[in-house]
Amino acid sequence: MTQTVSRPAASSGEAREPTLPLDVEAIRADFPILTRTVRDGKRLVYLDSGATSQKPRSVLDAERWFYENVNAAPHRGAHQLAEEATGAYEAARATIGAFIGAPENEIVFTRNSTESINLVAYALSNAATAKEPEFRRYAVGQGDEIVVTEMEHHANLLPWQQLCERTGATLRWLGLTDGGRLDLADLATVVNERTKLVAVTQQSNILGTINPLGEIIARAHGVGALVLVDGAQSVPHQPVDVTELGADFLVFSGHKMLGPTGVGVLWGRYDVLDALPPFLTGGSMIEVVRMEGSTFAAPPQRFEAGVPMTAQVIGLAAAVEYLQGLGMDRVEEHEKVLTGYALAKLAEIPGVTVIGPPDTVARGGAISFTVEGIHPHDVGQVLDDLGIAVRVGHHCAWPVVRRYGVPATTRATFYVHTGYDDIDALVEGVRAAQRFFGVTPEEATA
Ligand code: PLP
Repeated sequence: MTQTVSRPAASSGEAREPTLPLDVEAIRADFPILTRTVRDGKRLVYLDSGATSQKPRSVLDAERWFYENVNAAPHRGAHQLAEEATGAYEAARATIGAFIGAPENEIVFTRNSTESINLVAYALSNAATAKEPEFRRYAVGQGDEIVVTEMEHHANLLPWQQLCERTGATLRWLGLTDGGRLDLADLATVVNERTKLVAVTQQSNILGTINPLGEIIARAHGVGALVLVDGAQSVPHQPVDVTELGADFLVFSGHKMLGPTGVGVLWGRYDVLDALPPFLTGGSMIEVVRMEGSTFAAPPQRFEAGVPMTAQVIGLAAAVEYLQGLGMDRVEEHEKVLTGYALAKLAEIPGVTVIGPPDTVARGGAISFTVEGIHPHDVGQVLDDLGIAVRVGHHCAWPVVRRYGVPATTRATFYVHTGYDDIDALVEGVRAAQRFFGVTPEEATA
């Protein structure tokens, strides 16, 4: 398969860069980790927010506040701390729900996007064997089909492969164009009357592509299928409103949006959640328990077995408030300007090939690239020596690198504290890698 060759027009060199929508210096002051140095005193240039984001002080403070003042198990116990913990936990649920335009009873807390997706996948196979008829509505079995795309993160691929193996259903997928976009030519045949669920990412973690979800969701709903949107790389970076989205499920991870690790979200339409059996069972998710058998609580509690990650949920609400303070429109615009700048600067380096859309149209700030004559891991090593943190590898999207015929890529991802200086450092770092490995720009183009 041919490699995507995305060579955007080189920047004019004359043009002054536009002022960034966000005040990068003020924002950096909110992130304690950005004051540290790495590799013998070098400024930390953190271009790996797509893997996990750094945390502002307000998020760290929120978690500390909870442990120092409130710490107790929510929804258990009648003492004052338990009452306050429940109040703080449920207030955080409302804040996080409002961030995506959802009522709190449609917000389920999980560990991360991966667990949210597994929750749905296991609920669908559990539905096939549920003794309660009301839980069998979305049962998946032989003859049914699940549809994904070739650009999914492994987190939105393996749970569906496994669901198909457990139930005898068939996995189908939409392929990719040479330009790094979803190939929707076969949408009407791939998504058909046998389709039970379509799982698709809103923004690719490796290509940066933002997908045309409206068309996919319309087709899926037209044939009666559910739609799960993987928002792990979109919810942190652009305004997302579940009412406008029109899907049935949305998943995202707290740690990628300035929040703590260990907390993720599953949003589900209430009527759909209500028709699903649980994934994990145990304490806190029950209605009545007898030795002979038990019944389950209504959503979202039905899907939150055990004492939850309370401090992390409260930290995530603080992250949401921080993002709201900046304004998600501005966050999106900020990254768009930086993405355009980075694409243009990388295009000036002979031998660099961006894997993914070449411009900022329907594209987010994950920029994957290869450097001719240098393995991506070696590029990453040189960048690291300069204090620049990027990710290298297949980015948990192995089918994508295979599709474009490369062993791996180097990936830079941006966030609210990213400035032009970070991208200039990246570009200089790539040139330094070319010099280090003796692959001069002239040689690279030869
Ligand atoms: N989906 C996408 C698009 C991702 O980029 C990632 C993580 O990088 C995930 C899902 C999985 O997220 P987590 O590891 O937080 O579960």
